[in-house]
Amino acid sequence: MTIDDYADWAATVAKVPPPPASERLAYLGLGLTGESGEVAEHVKKLLRDGTLDQAAMAEELGDVVYYWASLCATLGLKPSEVLAASKAKISARLAR
Ligand SMILES: [Mg+2]
Repeated sequence: MTIDDYADWAATVAKVPPPPASERLAYLGLGLTGESGEVAEHVKKLLRDGTLDQAAMAEELGDVVYYWASLCATLGLKPSEVLAASKAKISARLAR
């Protein structure tokens, strides 16, 4: 499965509000923020306890990708192109 295939699938199963688009984007953006917070919580526990629940972290990273892919699909962006642009941006920064 490619990231583009995943985004197409995510767009079909996401339980998001119908248009207007702004509400759909807000819902997905809040979902992405919430899942990112769950990742941060595992990092906090690593700092506090010295251990990381690798399986739980992997699950949360998947949740992040789900909302990210759904946002890409909602905005009509092809995830593989977003990733390529990100790679090019970071590579240019590292080259400076
Ligand atoms: Mg989660």
